[in-house]
Amino acid sequence: MANFFPEDLIEEIRVNNDIVDVISEYVKLDKKGKNYFGRCPFHNEKTASFSVEPVKQIFHCFGCSKGGNVIHFIMAIENLDFPEALKLLADRAKIQIPEMNDGIADNEKAELKKELLQINIEAARFFHNNLINEKYRVPIEYLTNRKIEKQTIIKFGIGYAEDKYDTLYKHLKSKGFNDLSIFKSGLVLTKEDTKKVFDRFRGRIMFPIFDIRGNVIAFGGRVLDSSQPKYMNSPETAIYQKGKHLYAMNFAKNACAKQIILAEGYMDVISLHQSGIINAVAPLGTALTDNQGKLLKKYSEEIVLSFDSDSAGQAAALRSLDLLNDIGCNVKVLSIPSGKDPDDFVKTHGVDEFRKLVNNSKSLLDFKLDILDDKIDTSTNDGKVKFIDKAVLILDKIDNNVERELYVKKLSKEFGVSEQSIYSEMAKRQGGTDAKVKKQVKDINAVKKNTIKKSNISEGSEERLVKLQLMLLATICLDNNVYLHIRDVLDIDKLSSIEVKQALIFAIERIESKAGILIGEILNKLSSPMAESFANIIQSQSIFENNRKAALDIIKRIDFYGLETRKDEIIELKKRSDLTEGDVELLNRELSSIVLNIATLKKSL
Ligand SMILES: [Zn+2]
Repeated sequence: MANFFPEDLIEEIRVNNDIVDVISEYVKLDKKGKNYFGRCPFHNEKTASFSVEPVKQIFHCFGCSKGGNVIHFIMAIENLDFPEALKLLADRAKIQIPEMNDGIADNEKAELKKELLQINIEAARFFHNNLINEKYRVPIEYLTNRKIEKQTIIKFGIGYAEDKYDTLYKHLKSKGFNDLSIFKSGLVLTKEDTKKVFDRFRGRIMFPIFDIRGNVIAFGGRVLDSSQPKYMNSPETAIYQKGKHLYAMNFAKNACAKQIILAEGYMDVISLHQSGIINAVAPLGTALTDNQGKLLKKYSEEIVLSFDSDSAGQAAALRSLDLLNDIGCNVKVLSIPSGKDPDDFVKTHGVDEFRKLVNNSKSLLDFKLDILDDKIDTSTNDGKVKFIDKAVLILDKIDNNVERELYVKKLSKEFGVSEQSIYSEMAKRQGGTDAKVKKQVKDINAVKKNTIKKSNISEGSEERLVKLQLMLLATICLDNNVYLHIRDVLDIDKLSSIEVKQALIFAIERIESKAGILIGEILNKLSSPMAESFANIIQSQSIFENNRKAALDIIKRIDFYGLETRKDEIIELKKRSDLTEGDVELLNRELSSIVLNIATLKKSL
């Protein structure tokens, strides 16, 4: 598990958050025997197949096989990453986590951050009260006209900054905050010449900006008249970095949806959420950044980009799409007819129609080809040539051969051009491009090292290997004596999974120093998917009849499958056309020795 946190701190946090107590805050648990059972929060079920073991401090679902320790539980249920989950649990147990700054604790910075968070939440309350006490008609009218309901105002903490000079400043002072922190929050400024203090946001509807955990970290303010700028955001502070956050991500992550809709502005997001589409987010007044892209990727499998169909919107969409595509997101494009934004569309056509648009959103490629189609008149032969010319550039970027072939087929059909001539157009272009040449060189280097990408080998064998390694770890953890009997034949370096290796080394250290092993602590070493399988093994087969024999057997199997995997790898490698005779000979020699070893091992299994 990710570890710039000291191990004993992680363990202290885990031990101080009893798994039954923590899970009881989310799931109704009933005691049966020595364990607790409830309905799994991770899958839909009528019977209780979700179990919590207080002794081992683990949870496990017999239905969906989610499992792990209390940290894994919080990561899964709150949709947090490891450091975030750890922070939440530390807060819960009132354990101080030093803020990490390149590995060095920096308490002063942590103090300031805490203070800024308090100032922002206080300001949010102040703005919100200005709005809901209905002292001012204009902001209420504005929101009513935009059909924003009271519930939504409350959910998003929308507020109003009065059109006065320094009411927020006075309010913050009255709450005891000092000038230095107030100025550092960026919510209050001083005039350079007169040194007079004034509020940054005046006469604006205020939208608190939340971080992923739901803390208010900044504000966006919208004017109510035609003055400029229409939207204004807090400046960057110790707690707010532009381009790192996404509006409403704190809500959207809880939707646990397979898709996230990326809209353009606050109002789009708010109105989508109000209509029940709670997986919508927006960047904050900037073009989408790399950081935001990664945040999106972390929380969903597919990003649906919703944008204005005018040309500026289209250009921005293309930039965002390329960015998302480059970092490996699966992207789609939702285009809203007749130049409307999602806010307008949902209000005029309703949420069902909007969902239809989402379902019919286009792939990145279709979107690009459609734009091309709009730009080029393809009714003439000249136009067709021009279109194909540009289209092959787009198709050339597709890594997936099957996908590329499908598009080539489609184009060939649409334009009455043979597939062969489209391919030869593509080949022409490939000759010169730098990237392609580099890629070929890289491929050749890969062969020299006699390795190939993992993805080319059947996934199943790798999974099976990891499972065996986890079984070995489980057997040793549950019955420490096993280790003493197998240590002569156990070659830890043969374990392909680094995580299991580290956990096993940790367990062995414990056994050799005669300290006990806690299953919950071992789980600290494993990332969520691994922890899931591990908890599963611990719970389901618990212990073998003869642990020693089982452990020896597992070690043999690990060897066996390791050899099988390498055998498959070599067979794949040998199919390549760019091998030298020397390469082939080396591979053949390795292969025959592997085949021999496999045969020997098979007999003893
Ligand atoms: Zn489940």
